[in-house]
Amino acid sequence: MNDNVEDFDFPNSDAYGDGTGDGVRPLPDSDSSGTEGGAASEGPKWANLPVADAGIPGARKRKKSLGEILVETAVISRAQLDEALKAQQSAGKGQKLGQILLEKNLISEEDMLRALAAQLDLPYYTRLPINDIDPALVENIPIAFCRDNKLLPVARDDFNVTVAVADPLNIFPLDDLRLILSTNINIVVSPPSIIEASINRVFERSNDNSKKVIDELNVPEIGMDEDLEETRDLLESTDDEKPIIRLVNGLLTRAVKEKASDIHIEPYDAEIVVRFRIDGALHDKMQIPKRHGNSLASRVKILGKLNIAEKRVPQDGRINIKVAGRDIDVRLSVLPTAHGERIVMRLLDKTSGAKRLDQMGMEEDLFKVWANLIEQKHGMILVTGPTGSGKSSMLYASLMHINSTDINILTIEDPVEYQLPGVGQIEVKDKIGMGFAEGLRSILRQDPDVIMIGEIRDATTATIAMQSSMTGHLVFSTLHTNDSAATVTRLMDFNIQAFQISSAVLGVAAVRLVRKLCQTCREAYDPTDRELHIIGITREKLAGKKIYRAGQGCDRCQNQAYTGRVGIYELMIFDDHIRETIIKSPDAKAIKRVAIERGMKTLRESAMSKVVDGLTSIDEAVQKTQTDDLDLGL
Ligand SMILES: [Zn+2]
Repeated sequence: MNDNVEDFDFPNSDAYGDGTGDGVRPLPDSDSSGTEGGAASEGPKWANLPVADAGIPGARKRKKSLGEILVETAVISRAQLDEALKAQQSAGKGQKLGQILLEKNLISEEDMLRALAAQLDLPYYTRLPINDIDPALVENIPIAFCRDNKLLPVARDDFNVTVAVADPLNIFPLDDLRLILSTNINIVVSPPSIIEASINRVFERSNDNSKKVIDELNVPEIGMDEDLEETRDLLESTDDEKPIIRLVNGLLTRAVKEKASDIHIEPYDAEIVVRFRIDGALHDKMQIPKRHGNSLASRVKILGKLNIAEKRVPQDGRINIKVAGRDIDVRLSVLPTAHGERIVMRLLDKTSGAKRLDQMGMEEDLFKVWANLIEQKHGMILVTGPTGSGKSSMLYASLMHINSTDINILTIEDPVEYQLPGVGQIEVKDKIGMGFAEGLRSILRQDPDVIMIGEIRDATTATIAMQSSMTGHLVFSTLHTNDSAATVTRLMDFNIQAFQISSAVLGVAAVRLVRKLCQTCREAYDPTDRELHIIGITREKLAGKKIYRAGQGCDRCQNQAYTGRVGIYELMIFDDHIRETIIKSPDAKAIKRVAIERGMKTLRESAMSKVVDGLTSIDEAVQKTQTDDLDLGL
C-alpha cells in the first residue's frame, strides 16, 4: 500500500482523462446497481458479484477523508478516530492517519483499501470472476508486470478494459497498460491476495488458449490452438493446422533432417530469407513473403514463451520439440532490426549424444597422448578455438572417456549441450546471478575429482579454476583463442602468473572442424607442386595416395560436395621445455616455436593429414587454418 492515503489527490486530477477534473474517478460507475462500464451498458455478467459497495451517499460529489469513511462504515468509532487524529497531531507533520490506525491495529489493510476505494469512488470487489476473464486480455502482458504491480485486466467492452488493482494510487503501471492494450482503462479495487491468486489462474488458462491472442493481434492466417505445454512430435502435424504452424513445424523438421545446427529467419526489405547452418556454412533454404513476417515471428516467440508484444528489445528463449522421436532443445534469439525481427534458432539434439573420444578423428599418436593426459589426477587441461570449433564435443568425449563410478565429475556449462550419464551438470543462469564463477564455487563444495568449466571468460573464473587445479582437482575448460600457444598469454590477461600457468596446466588442445568431402562425388586429381608445398609433402612421399577436391555435388550430399565434419587438432603438452619457456619469455610465438621443435603438429599439419587421407580438400584445409602462424608461402 501507498501510505499517502490520508491526503490523497491524484498527481494529476484528470489523470484518467475523464474530463471532470474533480479528482474523483467517475468510471466505473459504482452506484448502487453495481454495474460498471457506463450506464448504457448492461455490464458484464459478473457484475452481480458481491460488490462491497462502500455505500457512502454522496461520495461521488465530495471527497471525504479516509477517517470519516471509516467511521461511517463502522470500521472504527468516532472516539477511536478522534484519538488517532490526536496521535497524528502529536506525531507531527507527515504521519498518515491510515498508518496510525494500522499500527494501532484498529483497522486491517483490507479495511483501509476498502475505505480508499470508497474515497476514490471506485468499486471494491472481494472476488474476481476468474472463469469469465478472457485469457486473451493478458496475452500481451508479462505475468511479472501483473504480479509486480498487483493488477489484472478482468473485462473488456468496446471502449474500455477494466483492470482490478490492489493499489489504486499507483497509476504509472496503468499508463503502461494503456499503451500495451491501446485502450482506455477503468479500474476496480481488490485485495492483493485475491489479485495474486487470480493472476495465476488466468495466466495458466491463457497458455492453452492462445488462439484468441491472434484475434487480439489482428493477424490473419495464424492460429495456435495446440497445447503448447506438451512436447509433441512435429511429425504428427496434420493438415488441419493453420498454415503458419505448418510452416514453422516444417522448418524445424527439415532443419533436423538436414542436420542443421542453426535456423536463421532474416527479414529484409522485400522478403524474409530462411537459412540453415549446416556443417558450419549457411545455406539459403526459403524465401517467405514479407507480409507473413509478423505471424512467423509471433509463432516462434510463442513457442519460446516470449513476450510477443515486445518488438523493440532483444529476447532469448528456449523451445523443446520432438522430431521423429528425437528430443531437440532449441535456443531462441530474437533481435529487432530495421526490417523486422531477426530470429536465430540453435538446435541441440540431446538424443544424438556425445561422440566417443575415438570417434573424434584424432590421429592415432595424438589420441594416445591425449588419452594419457586426461587420466592425470590433477592439473588443468584446456581446449581452445573459436565458437563452433568443436571444443564442447572434445570436452564431452574426454569426460566420458575417464568417467567411472569411483570419480565425481561435475560441470558448469552454458548451455548443457548433451546430458552425460553419471556426470553432474549445472547450467549457467546469468539472470539469477549464477555465472561460471558462482557455479564453480558451489561445485567446489560438492567434493569433485574432475571439474569441467564450459568456458573461462573472466579473471574470477580463471583464478578459481587455477586454484582448483593446484589443489588436487583435474580441471577441464575452454578458452577463446586461436591456437594453443596464445592460451598462455590469454591466461596472463586474466591476471594468472606465468609460474602458476607453468605448474598447473598439463596441456592445451587447439581444435577446429573441417568439412568432409562427399565420398561419392569427390574428384581425385594431380596436385600441383605449389599445392604439394602447401600440404607439406613431396611427390615421392605421396606415393600413390590420391588427393581429392570438391566434386560437382550429388544427391547424397544434397549438392554441397561436402557432408559432415571432422576435427583437426594441435596438442601442446606442457613438458619441462615449455614450462621453462613460459617462465622465461611468456610470449606466444616463442612458446609455439619451442613446441614445434618438441614435435608438436600444428592445426595446419593436422588439416593436411586429412587431405592426404582423402577426407577433405586443400581449399577447405587452408581456409579453416588461416590463423595458423606458419609461413607456408601463401
Ligand atoms: Zn556428393
